Amino acid sequence: MKPVMLITGASAGIGAAAARIAAARGYDLALNYRSDDAGADAVAKTCREAGAEVLLCKADVADPVAIEAMYESIDTTYGRLDVLINNAGVVDQTAKVTDLTHARLRRMFDINVIGAMLVAKEAVLRLQAGGKGGVIVNISSAAARLGSGNQYVDYAASKAAIDCFTKGLSDEVAADNIRVMSIRPGLIETELHAKGGEPGRADKLAHTVPMKRKGSAEEVAQAILWLCSDEASYVTGSTLDVTGGR
Ligand code: NAP
Repeated sequence: MKPVMLITGASAGIGAAAARIAAARGYDLALNYRSDDAGADAVAKTCREAGAEVLLCKADVADPVAIEAMYESIDTTYGRLDVLINNAGVVDQTAKVTDLTHARLRRMFDINVIGAMLVAKEAVLRLQAGGKGGVIVNISSAAARLGSGNQYVDYAASKAAIDCFTKGLSDEVAADNIRVMSIRPGLIETELHAKGGEPGRADKLAHTVPMKRKGSAEEVAQAILWLCSDEASYVTGSTLDVTGGR
């Protein structure tokens, strides 16, 4: 029986790249997204062509009821879960702390922190069932280290919360044979920057990266899939920078 991987935010960018590689490596997939039906359909088609069974789960991770419904559909379709890639996330427009509003902070933390924690909680309940264990990879950001002053401190703080959550959760479930890691991508070429109002951001800042270039979604996805593999069997509680040295 193939292992089942849930990827949140799989209609584009890093999540989509992880889905394509996972399909080629023999996983069946539950692909979550919020709104981009065309993007999700295209990713699902590619993954099916690579031999994976694919369940599309349209659900806003900021909505706890939608998270429950997503897991119910996974339980019904697969009856198991082996890996969670906790990837769905948003940035916002560049702003100083003095410009931040309650509504903006609420959205950022509802999606990037509370949503990610609730998605992980439901995954843990399933990975613990029957004692089989599994893997959770949370997608953080180099912003968690850098602070993102004058850009989006709220985003950076949300990702620092994910790194802290990763360490705490990994301690709680290590004895259950569940490994929990986070990855901190650096400047990666995806649509995320355009959604934050800065489409050219990765190119503009590439010179600040020690490797002098932006990264690709595939380069992050390769690191994600390595953490999921048995090659990383003694890795847990860690955060891995995929940043070109930034
Ligand atoms: P992206 O291309 O914008 O893709 C984001 C994905 O998340 C999309 O599939 C989107 O779905 C989904 N999503 C957003 N809000 C959601 C919600 N409330 N519920 C469910 N799905 C939701 O971004 P990306 O660059 O691949 O980012 C993926 C992760 O990497 C994020 O956590 C991001 O913070 C992190 N990251 C990215 C970079 C970078 O430079 N790109 C750097 C560091 C960290 P829909 O479009 O269908 O709504």
